[in-house]
Parts: sequence; structure tokens; C-alpha cells
Amino acid sequence: MTYRAPLGDFSRILKHVVGYDRVAETTLFEEASLETVEAVLGEAAKMCEEVMAPLQRNGDTDPAVLENGVVRTSKGFAEGYKAIAEGGWIASSADPAHGGMGLPMVVTTCVNDMMSGACLALQLNPLMSQGQIEALEHHASDALKEMYLPKLVTGEWQGTMNLTEPQAGSDVGALTTKAEPLDDGSYAITGQKIYISWGDNDFTGNVCHLVLARLPDAVPGTKGISLFIVPKFIPDETGEPGQRNDLRVVSLEHKMGLHGSPTCVMSYEGAKGWIVGEPNDGMRAMFTMMNNARLGVGVQGVGVAEGAYQHALAYANDRKQGRSDTGTILGHADVRRMLAEMKADTFAARAIALALAVALDMGRATGDAAWKARAGVLTPIAKAFGTDTGIDVASKGVQVHGGMGYVEETGAAQYMRDVRVTSIYEGTNGIQAMDLVGRKLMDGGEAVFSLLDEIETHAEAGKEHMPDLAEAVWQATETLRETTEDLLARDMADRFGGAVPYLRAFARVLGADAHLRVACAEGGGAVERLARFYITRLLPEHSGLCAQARASDLPAAEDFAA
Ligand SMILES: Cc1cc2nc3c(=O)[nH]c(=O)nc-3n(C[C@H](O)[C@H](O)[C@H](O)COP(=O)(O)OP(=O)(O)OC[C@H]3O[C@@H](n4cnc5c(N)ncnc54)[C@H](O)[C@@H]3O)c2cc1C
Repeated sequence: MTYRAPLGDFSRILKHVVGYDRVAETTLFEEASLETVEAVLGEAAKMCEEVMAPLQRNGDTDPAVLENGVVRTSKGFAEGYKAIAEGGWIASSADPAHGGMGLPMVVTTCVNDMMSGACLALQLNPLMSQGQIEALEHHASDALKEMYLPKLVTGEWQGTMNLTEPQAGSDVGALTTKAEPLDDGSYAITGQKIYISWGDNDFTGNVCHLVLARLPDAVPGTKGISLFIVPKFIPDETGEPGQRNDLRVVSLEHKMGLHGSPTCVMSYEGAKGWIVGEPNDGMRAMFTMMNNARLGVGVQGVGVAEGAYQHALAYANDRKQGRSDTGTILGHADVRRMLAEMKADTFAARAIALALAVALDMGRATGDAAWKARAGVLTPIAKAFGTDTGIDVASKGVQVHGGMGYVEETGAAQYMRDVRVTSIYEGTNGIQAMDLVGRKLMDGGEAVFSLLDEIETHAEAGKEHMPDLAEAVWQATETLRETTEDLLARDMADRFGGAVPYLRAFARVLGADAHLRVACAEGGGAVERLARFYITRLLPEHSGLCAQARASDLPAAEDFAA
């Protein structure tokens, strides 16, 4: 499948929307100038276009299978993985002390975007390792770091995350997997985990599972959870894979899509594991991994949106049907409307993800609490809006294809099936929205209001260049501000009922700010027309969403019995 990396949009967003220069000015990232970043992204783009994109269909037509207890991966995935690993793309932001490139999260985010657009099922593999690397960097002992990080960073070994159990999905605190201390300081892990992405493969020397489990004396709920690293092969004294551990893949889940990614039911049968961080403090460590993964999953949605958009555009340029100026369906106004929505929303979702990446980088480089709070606010929005956009754009991609979208040969349906899970895993989008109106407003709205102040300042400046668009963005921000104040005055149960529309209204405003800023900076042409389209056609949705967020009219549970 052809795929062209959106390098132009990355540059535009880094320069005009998220102020990447601030990251490059910090001591930590002083070597990552914008020019360097663009050059690095150019290299990753080649790998995505030439190696990963041709594998996209293989994941669907030749899915991963379990044969005699061993996972066999899709044709070409081993070679694709090798290219990802050799390029250093598994962990471009990892600490150079363990072989990483130490690049800003901005770079990893753009690379993840491109890899997801090229081949989502394969990209999920390094995404799992990235989260594990970050959790180990922050919480593991020096001995564990030395043992695992260099091999995870090079891709010689692969990482997974094991939270979910049949009775413990969104409610992670309900998990029951046990960890019994052993005399040698390790633990015996026993339990079953379900839906484990890339729980095994046939191309890395080891698969290292981060597993949440309970110590014998642990209190119920999330406060009694500890984190363990449990390798498929126990490293010997030289650090090489040794004895086979007591864990196995029981089966692969039969899924709607993402067939190239083996989603495993895992059984731990007294498997040897080592604790990461302090006993009963596993959720804190896991949150490091989950926050990384939330940005990563949001960007999976953005990447797939890009792939689906390009695919639909190519079809629209080719398909002749009815009379139009171009001779193709691209000449029909409604087809252009769909493509414009796809393009404008993908740009907005990408800008939000990169704004989050910048906030994470600035928080890390400066230690400034305000940047960390900004990242906290943007995390659920980037995750939920990125993935909702992926799903919506992929669905519109099918529509642009007409009947050819519904049959499998064109590959349009694959984007839609593959991306559907992204709004479910890594915390459902409903849970993300509750996080936004709950934990992320616990500062009385300080971080949210400071972000809204900034958007209004940009809109004020924009009035000089594009008064009508800038005024619309300013007004929308005010409506969002009033809605935030309204939510702050309510109790939590009431806030939760309006959480999803509130998050989407927020994303609409952030997207409008991004489009306006790029249009003001570049002025004229297709960029301005797309900004105008977004602000006049898509931004107005915010007002209905804010009304929904403020309405207290949810039916009660018993109403559904009628
Ligand atoms: C393809 C795939 C790959 C996955 N990969 C992994 C992996 O690698 N590692 C891993 O650990 N897990 C993985 N998961 C599991 C995934 O994270 C869970 O499916 C997800 O967290 C939701 O849990 P659940 O399926 O039990 O749904 P439930 O928690 O039962 O949720 C069902 C519905 O109820 C809503 N809901 C639940 N609780 C609340 C609440 N308190 N308030 C409001 N609404 C609520 C949810 O939003 C959802 O709409 C994967 C899942 C899939 C399908």
C-alpha cells in the first residue's frame, strides 16, 4: 500500500503551532535543533514508506497464528521489525546511557505517527517496548536496568504490558494475579492475563512481560498492586536468554482487525519475576508506562487517519462516476467535503498530540510543574481525540470508496477494522474523558484556564490577519471556559455524565487554535482554505458539545428496564 509520510505537516506544526524552538533551547535537548529533527524524521519516513507500508496488507491477509504454543507472525513482519530496530526507532527517546538516542518525545511521537500510518499492527510492537523502557528507566533497580534496557532499546528483546484479566479491565484494581516471594529475592507469578498485545513473537530473542500482580499481604484495590518483570527466557549470568520461564500463550484472541498483532491470553504458572519499584507501588510505575502509551495510542489514531485519508484521496482521484469538472469523484462537492473533514481533523489531532509531546519534553527538561500540569490536561484529549479521529476518518475513507470500501480488496475497510480498538485499549475513551473532568480539574481548573488564556492570546493576535476566523476561535474558547467553570461547580457524578462531550469540545477548540496559527503564519492557499473549512464547519460543533456537557439529563439505570 502506498503511504507518504506527512513531513510537511510535522514541520508546520513544530514551527507554527507547538513552538518546538522552546524544546531545542533547553540544555537537555540542545542537540535536537529543528533542522536535526527534520533530518531524523526524513530517515524514519523512508523506512515507513519503503519497508513498513508494503507490509500493511500482510497483517490482514496472513494473520499471526499460534502453532504448538508458539506465535508465528505475518509474512515480512520479522524483516519489518528488523528495519525498525536497526534504524533505532524502537526507542529514539530512551536514555543514551542504555543505548537510546535521547531525542525529545516530539521525535518519537512523529515516528510513531508515521509507523502507524504505514502498518499499525506491526507498530504496536515497538509501542509496547517504548512504554516498558520508560517504566524501567524510572522505577527499576540499577541491576534490572542493566539487564534489560540495552536489549529492549536495540530491539533484541521485546516488551509487553500485562494489566488486564477477565474480571479486571477498566477496573485494574480488581486484578488477582499473585506474586509469592522466593528465597533468592525473586517472585513466583501465577495468574491469567487476557488481551496481551504482542504477548509473543518469532523474531526477538526474548519477550519481557511487565506484569501487575498482588503480594500475599496486599490490601485490596489499586493500593495493593505491585509491578514485576517476567521474561520468557530467564537471563543467565552473562545476561543472555537462558532457562524457559513458566509462562505460556494459551490462545490468540479472534479480533475484528489488527490481525497482524498477536493478542494473547497469557498464563503465568509460578513464573519467575523480579519486582520493579517498591512493593504495592506498582500502579505508580505502571502509570509511567500508561501515560507514554496514551500519547502513543492517540498517535496511532492520527497515523491511521493519515493512511486512510491518503488511500481515499488516491481513489477519489482515480474513480470516474457521474459528471464532474475533474472527470473523477473528486469533482463532486460531497466527496471533497468528506476529504476536507478527514484532512482537517487529522491535522488537528496531530497538532494536539505534538502539543502534548512538547509539554512532556518541557516538563522533563525544565522540571516546571506548569508544563507537567499542561501535559496532564492534554494526555486524555490527545488519546481520545486522536483515536476518535482515526476511527471517524477511516470510516469516511470507506464511504469515499463507495462499494469498493466495503469489500476487502481495496484495503479501505482494514484501516477501519484495525483502528477501532484504539478507542478501547489503554483506557477507554470514556475513562479518558472522566480523567479530564475529574483528576485534571482537581487544581480548580488552573492548568485548563492557563491553556485557554494562551489560546485567547493567539486568537487576539490572529485578529490582525484573519479577523473573522480569529473571532470565532476566541468566542469558542470563551464558551469552553464557561463550560469548565460550570463543571467545576458540579459534583463528580454529574461531571462524568458530560465528560465525553466536554473532551471533544476541548479538542475542537485546540484544533481550531492550531489551524488558525498555521494559517496566520503561512497565509493564503490550501493551508488557509483548510483552516477556514475547520473553523467555519467543524469548530461550531463545540457549542452543541458544551451544551451536552452542561446538561444533567442522563436516564437512570432503571430507565433501561422499560
Ligand atoms: C486488541 C486489544 C489489545 C489489548 N492490549 C492489551 C495489552 O497489551 N495489555 C493489557 O493489559 N490490556 C490490553 N487490552 C485490554 C484493554 O486495555 C481493555 O479491553 C480495556 O481496558 C477495557 O477493559 P474491558 O475490555 O474489560 O472493558 P470494561 O472495563 O468492561 O468496559 C466496558 C465499558 O464500560 C465502560 N466503563 C467501565 N468502567 C467504567 C467506569 N468506572 N465509568 C464509566 N464507564 C466505565 C468502558 O468505558 C466501556 O465502554 C487490549 C484489548 C484489546 C481489545
